[in-house]
Amino acid sequence: MNKTDRASPPTARPRASKLQTRTSTGSPPDAEIASRLDEQLGALATLETRLAAIVASIHGRIAFSSSLGLEDQAMLHGIAASGAAIDVFTLDTGRHFPETLETLEASEHRYGVKVRVVFPDAGDVEALVARDGIMGFRQSVEARKACCEVRKVRPLNRALSGAAGWLTGMRREQSQERSAVPFAEWDAAHGLVKINPIADWTLADLEGYIARHDIPVNPLHAKGFPSIGCQPCTRAVRPGEDIRAGRWWWENLDGKECGLHNRPKAKVSA
Ligand code: SF4
Repeated sequence: MNKTDRASPPTARPRASKLQTRTSTGSPPDAEIASRLDEQLGALATLETRLAAIVASIHGRIAFSSSLGLEDQAMLHGIAASGAAIDVFTLDTGRHFPETLETLEASEHRYGVKVRVVFPDAGDVEALVARDGIMGFRQSVEARKACCEVRKVRPLNRALSGAAGWLTGMRREQSQERSAVPFAEWDAAHGLVKINPIADWTLADLEGYIARHDIPVNPLHAKGFPSIGCQPCTRAVRPGEDIRAGRWWWENLDGKECGLHNRPKAKVSA
């Protein structure tokens, strides 16, 4: 098998026609809403008031994709505290740490919510493993991206289909790659407004919010895992290392994203 074969995951299929239509035409009114929210959210002091402004601005389903990491646990608390009607879902890649799944259950108990668990297509996973092997994602960046595409990106696209807004817990401070994340932007690829209500939070802001509200978090954070993804692709970081250094650690530091939040590269000053 050559490298070109590995560049795309097996059984790649075109997106649903509804998504294509939304993507190709865009939506000027929604783009304006994104622009207004982007200006508005930074002036609001709390996560709860930001969520209220988001719900008031976006008409249609607002989905929150939680990775169950620190940021997303804070977001879940804010959503529960504000009473906002948000479709909360998480992607179960089939390769999570047991601690991550325990965190999911603890969160459901704490907040009395049912988190929608979205799984990859079984046929896609079988074809991927048949082609690349059960640990094939370590063979090359292309093979790793193919695995993320099947286990994360396609399920995410399915979960977001038909949504008007997409909430994330991304923060600018998390990595160079995320340093220019706006509060809100029109996401033409998914045909919705993508909103990052805690984009401006520092790690101290985040940890303070979690401590004040005694929010349940993944116990692995206390064992040196600031950013937690799939078990075979995440290791603990050493003191002074980048927050995301433990993700796909065998790869170059540049551009270590799984494809869920791809954005144009931020300018790096000299
Ligand atoms: S993080 Fe690793 S195991 Fe998880 S989907 Fe990506 S390549 Fe596959």
